[in-house]
Parts: sequence; structure tokens; C-alpha cells
Amino acid sequence: MFKIIDGKSIAGQIRQEVKEEVDKLKKKGIHPGLAVILVGNNPASEVYVTMKGKACEKAGIQSITDRLPSEISQADLLEKVRFFNESPLYHGLLVQLPLPSHIDEQKIIEAVAPHKDVDCFHPYNVGRLMIGQPVFEPATPAGIVELLKYSKIDPAGKHVVIIGRSNIVGKPLSMMLVQKRPFANAIVTVLHTAAQQMDDYTREADILIAAVGKPEVVKANMVKRGVVVIDVGVNRVPDNNEKGYRLVGDVDFSQVAPLTSAITPVPGGVGPMTIAMLLKNTIKAAQLNSSEILG
Ligand code: NAP
Repeated sequence: MFKIIDGKSIAGQIRQEVKEEVDKLKKKGIHPGLAVILVGNNPASEVYVTMKGKACEKAGIQSITDRLPSEISQADLLEKVRFFNESPLYHGLLVQLPLPSHIDEQKIIEAVAPHKDVDCFHPYNVGRLMIGQPVFEPATPAGIVELLKYSKIDPAGKHVVIIGRSNIVGKPLSMMLVQKRPFANAIVTVLHTAAQQMDDYTREADILIAAVGKPEVVKANMVKRGVVVIDVGVNRVPDNNEKGYRLVGDVDFSQVAPLTSAITPVPGGVGPMTIAMLLKNTIKAAQLNSSEILG
């Protein structure tokens, strides 16, 4: 019988720990704060930003969402980033992606002060992650590592196959899991669209992580019995319910789950962890940026 890795419950424990840490920091006179910049009205971004704001509120972290019009110029957006870089009220800063096409996304990412970069997208932080000396760890990959830790699934010496090489999930996760340190030390394969025969690789996986962004592409014939499956995908597929859609992962859960030893569901797997890890990073930023108070 396979085990369902309950991301919602694990994220709940982490959020409780964050809340306790926030209370401790407040006693020392530090009030952790997160600034979020949202440009335009992309519906998915709206949902994510609202969820982040609510999670901050529940944890006792003060947060602000600066909503800017989609026509904002790059110069004005850079000015906003500079404003929050310098604000002592907000220890963490993130710019919700994607940005409108007239904005150079990489320029904005690089404008965020590295010590406030709770998304861990700035090249300075990505570089530190790669050499195994992270300041922050990106929220989704860090959430995946936490899911493994809480489930006592040690990737050391295991063959981890990651489908997807995005800068947000696949690449940083591969960097984290390959490090020579506890709860890493894995043998990592990263797949992408140039893989001719994906199942040649996926069937070799002890731990298979799907970050493809395509509904239910991982099928039963692509995995070996006893594999651990982490499904990062969040895909909308049409449904007759009142919303008109439902969320499914990149893995065909009903087919694949019975073959696994453990698997994350969608929703309720990786998703809740991403927000919990963002809160953790905000606490870390508050600690880093208040080191003169903490001593
Ligand atoms: P992305 O930037 O679109 O990257 C997808 C990756 O999958 C690319 O590297 C692509 O290869 C690869 N790929 C696509 N089709 C493939 C195929 N048929 N065979 C092999 N590789 C294939 O996506 P992302 O940002 O990493 O996100 C992936 C999924 O995770 C999405 O569903 C997203 O919504 C979800 N997500 C969830 C969370 C969460 O908190 N739950 C957070 C982030 C993302 P190429 O590089 O060759 O194009």
C-alpha cells in the first residue's frame, strides 16, 4: 500500500514553527515583514499573491502587496524595487512573476537586493545555492526537500530523476539534491524536451519528481514499482463542476499511485509547502537583516 505524502499537514507544522519564531523575534523588537510587488492582473498571480498575504497574516508577519498597473514602465518598476530594497520595514521582497512582456524580467530579478531576495532568484543567491552555501533556498525546491525529510525518505545515494529544468523548480532542485550534505547526496538526472525516450530514464528513478506543467503525462508504464513520486505540476483541466475546471498534477495519480511507495497528491502536496517555505525565508531575511539587533 502506498503512502500519501500530506503536504498540507507538513506545511501546517512548518507554519506553526514559523509563527513561534515570529513571536520570538517580536520579543526582541523585530517585526518580520514581506513586500510583494504585483504588476497587472494575471488571475493566477492574483491568487498566489492573496494566498501569500493571508499566510503572512496568520504567521504574524506584516506584509504589503504593491499592486501596479500592467502599463508601468521598466524604470518606474525598478524605482519601486529600489524603494522596498531600502525600506527597513520589509525584510523580504519579491516581484510576482510573470511580468508583462515589455518588462525585462531578468533586470527586475537582478534589481532585488540579494539579502531581501526571499524567492532566491537573484544570480548571487543562485550561485551560492550552487556551491552549497545558500543564503536562501527557492521555496518550491526547498518545500520538496522538506517533504522528503518529514516523510523520512533520504535521497542520499538514490537515483533522483527530475522532469523539467526551469529556473524555478528543476534546475535549483537538482543543485540542492546533488550537494554533499545530509538529505541530499543524490544521483540526479534532469529531463527536458530533448529527451528522446523519457521513460528510459523515468523507469530508473528511485525518486521521480515531475515539474513538467502538462496534465497527467507521467503514466504507469513510466515508473518502477516502489518509486517515490513528487508531483509539482498544477494544471487546470475542464470539469463539469461550478468552477468549470479542476486541478491535476503532471502525474496520472490513479494509474501511478498504486505502483509507488509514496506519492504527493495534487492539490495538497507540493503547493502548500511553497508558501510555508516562503514564510521561512522571510524569517531568515528578518534575522539576517537585523543581525545588529540579534547580536
Ligand atoms: P516550465 O518553466 O514550463 O518548465 C517545464 C519544464 O518541463 C521545461 O524544462 C520543459 O523542457 C520540460 N518539459 C515540458 N514538456 C516536456 C516533455 N514532454 N518531456 C520532457 N520535458 C518536458 O515550468 P515550471 O515553472 O518548472 O513548472 C512546472 C509545473 O510545476 C507547472 O505545472 C507549474 O504550475 C508547477 N509549479 C507548481 C508550484 C507549486 O508550488 N506547486 C511551483 C512552481 C511550479 P524544456 O526546457 O526543454 O522546454
